Amino acid sequence: MNVLRNLVGGRWVTGSESDTLEVVDPATEKPLALLRSSSPRDVSAAVDAARAAAATWSATPVRERVEALLHAADVLERHAPEIAETEQQDMGRPAAVGESWIRGAIAGFRTNVDLALQYPFRKVSEDLSTTVVRRPLGVAAVIAPWNFPANIILGALGPLLAAGNTAVVKPSEKAPLSALRIAELIDLPDGVVNVVLGGGPTGAALSAHPLVGLTHFTGSVRSGAAVASAGARQLHRVVLELGGKDPAIVDDGVDVAAVARDVARGAFTNTGQICTSMERIYVHRAVAGEFVTELTAVAADALLGPMVDSAQREIVVAHVQEAVAQGAVVRTGGIVPDRTGYWYPATVMTDVTDEMLIMREETFGPVAPIQVVDDFAQAVAKAKQTPYGLAATVYTTNPAHSALAARAIPSAITWVNRWQGAGSGVVYEPAGISGMTAMGHFAAYDAATRPASVIGSVETHRF
Ligand code: NAD
Repeated sequence: MNVLRNLVGGRWVTGSESDTLEVVDPATEKPLALLRSSSPRDVSAAVDAARAAAATWSATPVRERVEALLHAADVLERHAPEIAETEQQDMGRPAAVGESWIRGAIAGFRTNVDLALQYPFRKVSEDLSTTVVRRPLGVAAVIAPWNFPANIILGALGPLLAAGNTAVVKPSEKAPLSALRIAELIDLPDGVVNVVLGGGPTGAALSAHPLVGLTHFTGSVRSGAAVASAGARQLHRVVLELGGKDPAIVDDGVDVAAVARDVARGAFTNTGQICTSMERIYVHRAVAGEFVTELTAVAADALLGPMVDSAQREIVVAHVQEAVAQGAVVRTGGIVPDRTGYWYPATVMTDVTDEMLIMREETFGPVAPIQVVDDFAQAVAKAKQTPYGLAATVYTTNPAHSALAARAIPSAITWVNRWQGAGSGVVYEPAGISGMTAMGHFAAYDAATRPASVIGSVETHRF
């Protein structure tokens, strides 16, 4: 079977730990490839390669870095269908829908990289007394989950590389294939992007490495807390993009059928495996009956890929079973189909209570649990009762209601009458246990650099 290899300083090398991990196709449960975990020594070799490349890459003029990265985006664009197919193989998202996500990731990469041309890397004060320069942090560790490998890795890499950092990427052990293909395709100088393979211990060794300047981590709250501790010990910066339990509120007076279709997207896209999936739905009593009927009908027709693995599906099964045991009603779905692969159907539940796991903890599966509320204020009061703070979605015709929700619910992004999609200049920082450090637009460049000041006369172009 194909044994996957690390990319270190432009060379493909096999990890040196004795344990091997199988990469499995979740639709067939068949192994696709093997990877040998990377040891702390393998990780060090990758960090050293990134550090060696950083000297030249950080000194390369911004315009040239941007050109090289936009060229990489062109190459990736030509391979978008292939990357989508690769992700279908190891994490299950059907390529037919996956390709538009991959194209979105590449478009986002381009936009983020282009911003480098406007970012104030060098700024002289009006009285000419002070020059502030934003310097790259050196080697950035990028640790990614399996649910959107290419999107998350390209989202992190754009500003990091354009700002002059180099990177060591550790993709998820469950879905490493697209990261490897991307690293192979982008034609950057050796060592600018390196890849190490392995599970949690490899990620831990990378985030604890003393020569890493920043860890950009996307994944669970639990692993994120470990990365934050490692960063604190090394006194290096961490960007944490973690889990969520996003609420959606459906107000009286909306177009119920249209909103039900959008909520179906919010709850079931990527088989519910999105950090910003709708995981708690609060519906105004006046429209609740019609909404449940509409959503149940759309859910029954939803075409989903498999879940990533049996462990992830077990979490969904446990949450649904616990809710049913406490009185929740399954309107559609809720049963593991008798077939090979980690499938789980789009599921709609009603009669859920605040205490149930399905309304408290991240489920990360295709389940829409619905609670009926008496008015909008009650929906907001319930929506804000959470330690998470990633996103929230509000469907309402009343602008005062959307303003109330945006003010009261702890979230990094509030979508009004739509789910997903970026406006221009979006900047956000997750609230609560959903993460830390602002991202988006120039904030991503602020995170990728540190400011240094010279006070007094200096040849600014040399500084
Ligand atoms: P995970 O935390 O299990 O793994 C994520 C990555 O971290 C993997 O590469 C893993 O090998 C590595 N890792 C595990 N333990 C580590 C440690 N101690 N130190 C360093 N690295 C470690 O998460 P997952 O199951 O792959 O992903 C699903 C989670 O990711 C969900 O909670 C989801 O909400 C979250 N997520 C968040 C965002 C966001 O932008 N906020 C986006 C996508 C996914």
